[in-house]
Amino acid sequence: MHRLTRERLEQILSAPGGPLPAELEQHLAGCPECRREVEGFAEHSRWVRSLRTDEEVQPGPGFYAGVLECIESQQRASLWSAFLEPAFGRRLVLATLVLTVMLGSVVAFQVADDAFGSPPPEAIMAIDDHPLDWGADPERDRQTMLVTLATYQE
Ligand SMILES: [Zn+2]
Repeated sequence: MHRLTRERLEQILSAPGGPLPAELEQHLAGCPECRREVEGFAEHSRWVRSLRTDEEVQPGPGFYAGVLECIESQQRASLWSAFLEPAFGRRLVLATLVLTVMLGSVVAFQVADDAFGSPPPEAIMAIDDHPLDWGADPERDRQTMLVTLATYQE
């Protein structure tokens, strides 16, 4: 709904069929979106009036603006809900599993290295041409591990 229509919404609904500012009349004539939304609100307004008993029952001032605000904030929120979609979640879980397996195999190679003195060929491939004296320089080990992870291929 455009600002022009939104600002006059209460006026339109409080006097259905009544005279409207020429500017707004013109906009509604040429804007199906605003016409449809105003008609939706007008229908609800008629419905509320039809429930009225002896006393005047009217939505308080700003009610429809509040409803509109609520609808629009939900539409904005739905953008973020894309991150919670099942397909995205599955991809995230898969990526996590792959990373876990990669980490696990690198650690396993290192354990094999320590236990048997000579590392299996896979460990040498995974470590590439980096020196095998792990633990001597923690900073270099971290860098080496990162490079190994980043360049790891089956
Ligand atoms: Zn419009």
